[in-house]
Amino acid sequence: MTLYGYAGRILRLDLTARRALAVDTARYRSWGGGHGLGAALFWDFCRDKTITDGRDPANVCIVATSPLNATPVPSAGGRCEVLGVGFGMYPFSWFTRSGFGGRFSTMLKQAGFDAIVIEGRASSPVWVDIRNRKVVFHDADGLWGTDTWTAQQRIWRMVGAPCDVRSGWWDLNATAEEALDPATDQGRTTQRPAVLCIGPAGENQTAAGCLIHDAGNGAGQGGFGAVWGAKNLKAISVVGTGEIPVADPKALLRARQVTKDKYVTDIRQPDFATWAHVGGLPTPLFMNPPPTDERRPQACQGCINGCRARFAVGYGNESTCQETAWYLPAVRRVARSVQELSEINLRAADVVQKYGHNSFLFQTGLHWLEHLHEEGLLGPGKAIASELPWDSYGTLEFAEKLIHALSHRQDIGADLADGWVQAAIKWGREEDLRNGHMQFSYWGMPEHGYDPRAELEWGYGSILGDRDINEHCFNIIFTHVTAAFAYAKPMRIQAQQLVELIAEKLSPYAVGRPEVLDFGDGNMYSEAVAQLVRWHRHYTRFYKQSALFCDLKWPDFYNTNVPDLRGATASDDAGEQVFWNAVTGDELTFEDGIELGRRIWNLDNAIWTLQGRHRDMVVYAPYVYETRYTKGELFPFFMWPCRDSSGEWQYRDIMGRSMDRGGFEEFKTIFYRLEGWDVDSGWPTRATLEGLGLAEVADTLEAAGRLGKEAS
Ligand code: SF4
Repeated sequence: MTLYGYAGRILRLDLTARRALAVDTARYRSWGGGHGLGAALFWDFCRDKTITDGRDPANVCIVATSPLNATPVPSAGGRCEVLGVGFGMYPFSWFTRSGFGGRFSTMLKQAGFDAIVIEGRASSPVWVDIRNRKVVFHDADGLWGTDTWTAQQRIWRMVGAPCDVRSGWWDLNATAEEALDPATDQGRTTQRPAVLCIGPAGENQTAAGCLIHDAGNGAGQGGFGAVWGAKNLKAISVVGTGEIPVADPKALLRARQVTKDKYVTDIRQPDFATWAHVGGLPTPLFMNPPPTDERRPQACQGCINGCRARFAVGYGNESTCQETAWYLPAVRRVARSVQELSEINLRAADVVQKYGHNSFLFQTGLHWLEHLHEEGLLGPGKAIASELPWDSYGTLEFAEKLIHALSHRQDIGADLADGWVQAAIKWGREEDLRNGHMQFSYWGMPEHGYDPRAELEWGYGSILGDRDINEHCFNIIFTHVTAAFAYAKPMRIQAQQLVELIAEKLSPYAVGRPEVLDFGDGNMYSEAVAQLVRWHRHYTRFYKQSALFCDLKWPDFYNTNVPDLRGATASDDAGEQVFWNAVTGDELTFEDGIELGRRIWNLDNAIWTLQGRHRDMVVYAPYVYETRYTKGELFPFFMWPCRDSSGEWQYRDIMGRSMDRGGFEEFKTIFYRLEGWDVDSGWPTRATLEGLGLAEVADTLEAAGRLGKEAS
C-alpha cells in the first residue's frame, strides 16, 4: 500500500558498531511525523529513559521529517525536527526538541528515509555519507576541529558534488540499481548534498552546541551539538534523487494557490501589520539593519515567504531573527555609523553559525555578563577571572574571542559550557536568579523576551514542557498591537474583535471562549487560560512540530489580506488539515490534529516522568515571583487584550506585575486535572494513557513506580 507523503523507511545509525539498519515507517504511521514520529522512536530505541545528560551514550538522537517535507506545502516543506535528551539545562536536561529549516529534510526523504535514529557512540570521530539508500561511515579526519562552513564545503568536495552548482548535473553513482536512469533522472542531480553538522561548540560538548545546516539553519536550543559531539558524530551528509508520492496533487496545488491569492501580502503594497502572516513579505526578518539593499530572499524548500536573505556583501547570509541581534546591544556601544553597526552585527551572526554556537543564550545572557563585568565581578584578576579583552566589548574582535572561548571551554567558557545556571551557582551568583539580573526563567534557559509574567501562554507552555517553547502562535497579538503603538499607526482591529476572531479557531477546548485570551491580573491563573495553554501545547505538538508547519507563519489566526480578517488556520480552503490531507490522503479534521498533538504531548510527559520529573520541580526561577516585570529591556510596554471590571475588552499594558507562587500552584492543579494527570505529581494516569492508545506506556510507568494515581 502506498504511504503517501512518506519515503517508507527509517534509518538507524548504530555509531558504536558503525552499522546502518532500516525500519519500516509503516510501523510508526499513526504518529504522523516529526516530533510524534521521533518521540515514538525514542520510546522504542532508548533503553534507559532515566538519563538526564544527553551526552550519555545511551541517549538516542532522532532527526525526523514530516509527510509535508519535500512537497510544496507553503512554509512547511523544508522544516526538520530533532529530538533526544538534551544537554545544559537545569536542574535536569529533559527529553527535548529543536527544529531547523533549509533542505535537509527534503533531501533525506528524496534519499529514501523519513527519519534517522542515532544510537551509541563512535570510538573516534565519524561522518556519515548518505546517497540515496547507500549509507557509508567515514572517519572524520580532516573534518573534526573545523567550523561548520568548512566542514560542509569539504564534505561537498569529498562526495563529489560541484561546489559551484552552476556547473550542472552530477551523478551520485549511488548503487548499481540506482545508477543513472535516463528515463527518470534517477541518480543525477544538480543539488549539493544537504549536510547537518557540528562546529567546535558541539565537538567540545558545550551546552551551546548547535546543529548547523548550510549557512544559517540551526537546531539551537537543547544542546544537540553537544549530544553529537559526545557521540563523536561530526556530520551527516545526504543527497537523494527519489520522489515522494502525494495523494492528491491537484488539491495540494489548489490550496497553495489559494494561499498565494488570498492570504499573502502583496509585495507592492507592504503592510507593517501583515509581515508575519502566511507568505508575508520576502524581507529578512529582524535584521538590524540589513547591510545593503542588494539582496535576494532566501527560503526553506517550498516556502513562499523567504524570511532570510543573501546579500551582495557576502556576510549575514541566511541568518535571521535572534542570531542577527545577539551582539547588537554591545555593538551599539562602539559603532560609529549605521553601516559599521550592520557589518559588525552580521559578521557576529556568521561567527556563531561557524562555531555552531547557540546565540540564543545571549538573549538575556549577554546582559548578565555585562552586569557582572560592570559590577567589577568579571574580568582580569576579578572574582570571576576572565582574560577576554573586555575593553573591546562591542567590536567584532571581542565577539570572535568570546565565541571561541565559549566554544572551546576556555576562560569563562570552562564554566558556562555545562550550563549557564550551573555556572551562576559555581560563581556564587544565585542571587542574580533572584534579583533578575540573570533572566533564565525556565529549565536553565534564557527568557525569550516575552516575559512569563506577561505573555502567559509562553511562560506556562515552557515551564510545563521541556524548554523555551519558541512558538509565536499568540504572540502575533503582542507584535501587532505593539507595532501599531511603536510606529504610531492606527489600531487595525480592536481588542474584542481580535480575541473573538482568534477564539473561533480554538476548537475543541476553547472555541468561542475569548476569555481564554484575557491575560489580565484577575484571569492569570484561571481555568480559561489553562484551556488556552492546553490548546497551544496540543496544536504545536502536532501541527507545528510533527507536521512541521513553520512557526514563523503558522497558525494564521488574523490576516489583514482578507476582508473578514480571518486567517487560513483551520479553514476549508487552505487550513493546515487541507494540506495534510492532500499530501497523505487522510481525512483528518482540524480537531483530529489537536487530538494527535495531545497523544504526542502525553508521550513526552511519560518520558519526562521516567526521567524524574515531579510537579514540585515545575517552578520558575525566583525572579519571576520576586521581582516585577518593569525593566522593559526589549519593549517599553506589553500591550494585551484584557477585560475591565465591567467586562469590556481593551488593550492594556500588563507590565509591572510578578507571578504569584500560590496562584501558579493553583494553575498547575487546574492544568493537570484538565489533562487527566495526577494533580499531586503531574504524572500521567493509566486512564488517560489508555484513552490515547498508550497502554504499553502506562505499563512501563507502573513498573517504574511512576504512574499517576487516578482522580477519586
Ligand atoms: S518562513 Fe522562513 S524559516 Fe519558515 S519555512 Fe519560510 S523561509 Fe523557512
